[in-house]
Amino acid sequence: MYYFDPHIHMVSRTTDDYETLSRMGCVGMSEPAFWAGFDRGSVESFRDYFRQLTDFEKKRAGQFGLQHFTWLCINAKEAENVSLSREVIKMIPEFLDLPGVLGIGEIGLNKNTKNESIIFLEHLELAAQFDQQILIHTPHLEDKFQGTRMILDMLCDDERLDHHRVLVDHVEEHTIRPVLEKGFWAGMTLYPVSKCTPQRAADMVELYGPERLLVNSAGDWGPSKPTAVPDFIVEMRRRGHAESLIRKVVYENPMEFFGQSPNFQFNRPDVPEAISET
Ligand SMILES: [Zn+2]
Repeated sequence: MYYFDPHIHMVSRTTDDYETLSRMGCVGMSEPAFWAGFDRGSVESFRDYFRQLTDFEKKRAGQFGLQHFTWLCINAKEAENVSLSREVIKMIPEFLDLPGVLGIGEIGLNKNTKNESIIFLEHLELAAQFDQQILIHTPHLEDKFQGTRMILDMLCDDERLDHHRVLVDHVEEHTIRPVLEKGFWAGMTLYPVSKCTPQRAADMVELYGPERLLVNSAGDWGPSKPTAVPDFIVEMRRRGHAESLIRKVVYENPMEFFGQSPNFQFNRPDVPEAISET
């Protein structure tokens, strides 16, 4: 089955991983900008990182027939440095018109601090000003419930934002409901050590239905599994779910959400080009 990984940090993976993903049915991915494992010292580091995301990774993915898309921002961890964050936010528009740039992300909160909130709101301002989609990181473990509430409040306070163009990621059992109820998309991150397992993601699809739900692997620097989405497909099949339901979650839903961005020029491998162009 074809699938699209909506949230995977390929800069931290090897070229072998691209090859493996391609063999597992992956046809494309979207890569939000995130932390590099260390705090960067200057706006130029971010400019180089954005070049890597918009140029190098796209080429590396293309070698295996994978279509790579990306999102730009300064992540919540580094948002503690407000002056550097503002320099990065000012520089981002240089990249917004490049092919494959889908919007602003992954922005959000990490420890739910005041500085993180300030920079989150300034990213929302940027997104509203340039009519960009938004991809959101919600905090880990003990900070998740409170942080998700703070994020949803800030999003709902901004009347310019179309909720259907915002993806709130890393939802779990205690945060998924308010995200969906307020009309946002929700992403479940499949992780070996924290966040969500393929089994728990399957439970949530059974409880809430497939509308506006996505599953991703994160595939980052830490313990993570870039082929976690195929594990979810296997779990759904094991439970006897229809192929059409599974396909909706892992392929059709990403097409619908990302398709709202003008820079999502995706060649669907399952549709002959002549038809897809009409
Ligand atoms: Zn991420």
